[in-house]
Amino acid sequence: MQQKTLAIIKPDGVKRGLVGEILTRIEKEGFRIVAMKMVRLSRAQAAAFYAVHKEKDFFEGLVEFMSSGPVVAAVLEAQDAITRYRALMGATDPEMAEAGTIRKALATDGRKNVVHGSDSPETAAKEIGFFFNAFELTI
Ligand code: UDP
Ligand code: MG
Repeated sequence: MQQKTLAIIKPDGVKRGLVGEILTRIEKEGFRIVAMKMVRLSRAQAAAFYAVHKEKDFFEGLVEFMSSGPVVAAVLEAQDAITRYRALMGATDPEMAEAGTIRKALATDGRKNVVHGSDSPETAAKEIGFFFNAFELTI
């Protein structure tokens, strides 16, 4: 089943000059980039995006980090894109991530882990709508 997922290159990835490398890994893995933009999230926008984690002890630090600089948001399309992109990213904590994953290769810790990916079809629809309007999603 062709599926769409939301990918984000987080502020650490943009600051460290990893946008090209991450997009190359994504394209080499067979994902089609069907929408993309660079934006800087306000604290309120970062908090809204990660509202599911608002009770967690890491929430404040996460919001601070995600609003600390520009991010690149992209919609990826592929067969089983959601699960396959989660696999390409690797585990949240890079020390736990499998060899060959983006986080294993590039992330520095369990917060600054360079990429985000949606975790279910419901989340993907919500997260894509957070960053892109209907006009931007006509491809
Ligand atoms: N995070 C953090 N501390 C933690 C766990 C997560 O700062 O102990 C951050 C990290 O950037 C992670 C994000 O919060 O990517 C969302 O956490 P989640 O468990 O949803 O991980 P993901 O889906 O990104 O792998
Ligand atoms: Mg998550």
